[in-house]
Amino acid sequence: MNIVIENISKHYGSFAAIDRVSLEIRSGSLVALLGPSGSGKSTLLRLIAGLETPDTGKIAIADEDATHKNVQERNIGFVFQHYALFKHLTVRQNIAFGLEIRKALKSRTKAKVEQLLELVQLKGMGDRYPSQLSGGQRQRVALARALAVEPRVLLLDEPFGALDAKVRKELRTWLRHLHDEVHVTTVFVTHDQEEAMEISDEIVVMNQGKVEQIGTPSQIYDRPATPFVMSFIGPVNILPGSSRLFCDNKFERVPPKIFLRPHDIVVTTQIKEATASARVSRLIHLGWQIRAELALDDGQVINAILPRERFDQLNLKPQQQVYLKPKDIKSFPHSYSV
Ligand code: ADP
Ligand code: MG
Repeated sequence: MNIVIENISKHYGSFAAIDRVSLEIRSGSLVALLGPSGSGKSTLLRLIAGLETPDTGKIAIADEDATHKNVQERNIGFVFQHYALFKHLTVRQNIAFGLEIRKALKSRTKAKVEQLLELVQLKGMGDRYPSQLSGGQRQRVALARALAVEPRVLLLDEPFGALDAKVRKELRTWLRHLHDEVHVTTVFVTHDQEEAMEISDEIVVMNQGKVEQIGTPSQIYDRPATPFVMSFIGPVNILPGSSRLFCDNKFERVPPKIFLRPHDIVVTTQIKEATASARVSRLIHLGWQIRAELALDDGQVINAILPRERFDQLNLKPQQQVYLKPKDIKSFPHSYSV
């Protein structure tokens, strides 16, 4: 079921939480809404769900205008960060809940619950109560409960946000596999760029109630449309356009700022082909890669990331003199703010 959002806005008083957003979510895809806290992700999700009404604009689900339909009519499944399961009901009863209030046939409910228990890998835990489960298991039950009624669309608002980093990573991979099995159109809210990159077909980057860019993870990473996207999606060095590091680059006009990813800096110990010299001020070991803090001659400090092998080859030491050459730099001549 595709979702088409056309120019919607939502104000709280005079504050625009969502500001003229248009967006199309393809049927069967998994799309992440990614942005910092307060950028309007949850508001947009609530608008899709019908928990909020837009001031202006339209929302269509499966090619039908849903702008004024209520939550029930939209047939949407939800999972929130703290989606409290019913404490007094077992896992099985929690999953069956939506089907029972819809008065589904008992035999159908039973079969569906067993199928979902298997899908969320909780077979054998059906008779437990929520308090007897880990946080990650509870969120899987919440997902099974949302899927039980066969929603047309699944909306997930930071569903793994309250879990520790390791469980989060496991559930991310698990969710992507689950999506590949059930193919229900899914919108996933997160402020974690790595999470968004790992699980989604497309990412919608949001900032201050607006969409900054929509694209696949690689498009967003390799061809960021704005300085905001470039800075939010991965580590970046921001330097004045006049920096000596870029003297090789033939800009028509010197841009006010230049953006350079730490792993797009070639570090050498030889001057040839380099565009700037620097001194190693600090080396930070991150396992398979090393982050080098480098002080340029003009005093500016930038970060470079070197693969372990390259680092060993260069045999870098603090205070060492090195030479740099940027591999890929970006500027955004039409957008002067960061
Ligand atoms: P996110 O989920 O990206 O963190 P939200 O969509 O929750 O952001 O909020 C976007 C902005 O709208 C925030 O500045 C928030 O304070 C504001 N906001 C959200 N809901 C309400 C509300 N019910 N009343 C007033 N302001 C709200
Ligand atoms: Mg939110």
